[in-house]
Amino acid sequence: MKYQALAGLYDRLDSTTKRLEKTEILADFLRKVPAEELPEVILLLQGRVFPAWDETKIGVAGRLVAKAISVSTGLSQAKVEAEWKKTGDLGLTAENLTRKKSQATLASHELSVGDVITTIRKLAALEGKGSVEGKLKLIAQLFASSTGTEARYIVRTVLEQLRVGLGEGGIRDAIAEAFIPEIKGMAPAEKKPVMEQVQNALDLTTDPAEVAKALKKSGIKGLEGISLETGRPVKVMLAVKASSPEEAFKITGKPAQLEYKYDGFRLQISKQGKEVTLFTRRLENVTKQFPDVAEAVRKHVRAESCILDAEAVGLKKGTYEYIPFQNISQRIRRKYDIEAIAKQFPVEVNVFDLLQHGKKSMLSEPFSERRKVVEKIVEKRKGVIQPASVIVTDSEKRAKEFFSQALKAGVEGIMFKNLEAPYKPGARVGYMVKYKSTMETLDFVIVAADWGEGKRSKWLSSFTLACRDGDEFREIGKVGTGIKEKQEQGLSFLELTKLLKPLIEDDSGRNVRIRPKIVVEISYEEIQKSPTYSSGYALRFPRVVRLRDDKGPKQADSIADVERLYRQQK
Ligand code: AMP
Repeated sequence: MKYQALAGLYDRLDSTTKRLEKTEILADFLRKVPAEELPEVILLLQGRVFPAWDETKIGVAGRLVAKAISVSTGLSQAKVEAEWKKTGDLGLTAENLTRKKSQATLASHELSVGDVITTIRKLAALEGKGSVEGKLKLIAQLFASSTGTEARYIVRTVLEQLRVGLGEGGIRDAIAEAFIPEIKGMAPAEKKPVMEQVQNALDLTTDPAEVAKALKKSGIKGLEGISLETGRPVKVMLAVKASSPEEAFKITGKPAQLEYKYDGFRLQISKQGKEVTLFTRRLENVTKQFPDVAEAVRKHVRAESCILDAEAVGLKKGTYEYIPFQNISQRIRRKYDIEAIAKQFPVEVNVFDLLQHGKKSMLSEPFSERRKVVEKIVEKRKGVIQPASVIVTDSEKRAKEFFSQALKAGVEGIMFKNLEAPYKPGARVGYMVKYKSTMETLDFVIVAADWGEGKRSKWLSSFTLACRDGDEFREIGKVGTGIKEKQEQGLSFLELTKLLKPLIEDDSGRNVRIRPKIVVEISYEEIQKSPTYSSGYALRFPRVVRLRDDKGPKQADSIADVERLYRQQK
């Protein structure tokens, strides 16, 4: 398919702010896409060139794109910068300047959707010496073969800010409308279960293209063929917060299963014979980083095939003592010396749920049944792998005792779980409730930063934090405390600067806007009302606790979380 067709679609989507119209426009378009091209088209529609669980960053800054525009149009860099200043938007800049290019220079080659994806993927793969020039050349080549409109959307895709106003929900609705013809005439009550079925298929596959293909082939019946598969990630079920055991029981009902809340990272474990695959909560494949865990699963999980949900928690070497997550977080990204670091930072896997057992999906089995199977198939090997520590109770007194016991054991709190509940991938529905005693930390997104001064001038040194508000972000304060000078001490200025630099949107001044991608956990003394920030709140004495590289901006805490904590502290 020609990229031109997709760019035209983006334009049409951009021309309306009405959700229903957008859905219809996209549905019409999707119907005409050949089945084999649906995956690439749907990927680009999501503003991506890599699937959701692939953490690869394109890593191109606005400046470089501006340079590429200059190279491809033959205009001076100053001219490009001036246009950029005027429009405030690099996509539009590329479009306006490319339009001016004479017809004769427009290459005869027409870009396909595949060309665009392949070239942008190449950008992400370039690293090290000569990579800047290499990237420049690739982007300039794309521009050379593109029309103005295409250039605009190529820029936005490269900068990972497509913004055609279609969230996950919009794409889901359009897919349903495109391939389930009956849906148009349905009454809301009739439509609801159908849409739930579609959403369920999306949660199981985490891949809208696969759902679209199934629907295109066999309509709504096609969804029946979609199921869990070992080796492929599923969205994990999420927890809600409670501020007391009473509140937790209210949400789960009584009795509930109470479990240790380990301070580690979520691991989804998929086993098929000897083949073990490990995914993080963000569905990133980390099998290579954890050969020790894969081995433990092969040895101590007695099932030919299964999908388990677990928390891996760090242990102080040679002991059973738990250590905080930030000490082991480096293992998740590590690409070399993996065996050595696995020995130095061992993890214990605590299995708390089961999504599939053999060929049987366990998703709609009650939690108590799933737990029984966990106990049956996961051997108890302290320090290596075991079923999570639990009790079942309806007593608040007993819950408080269990909570003290948990803190003594060195975990950060307890979870309350509804015994009857199914497993709902991707949902935060109150089947799982977390309770921690200390002043809760919040996870915020970095949206801006200041370059340091003096000996810190190469580092970003003060960071503007924001909470989520739907698809937008609202600022809530600035933080510099808690970040370390030296790498060995924890999250350092250098490390954070490296992560944020490719996300800088406009680096002309000391204060730079940053694309909202990086999430940090923040502690504070108090939340206050404040007119200074767009959230209407500010934090007293904020401090960075750690990088939450297991969370994306969509999983950051929301303005509602801030409001709730504000009310609670009163
Ligand atoms: P939070 O990251 O603060 O939203 O807390 C929820 C997270 O706690 C889950 O995503 C898991 O990674 C982690 N966790 C630790 N222990 C458990 C447990 N026993 N059951 C469920 N989640 C757990």
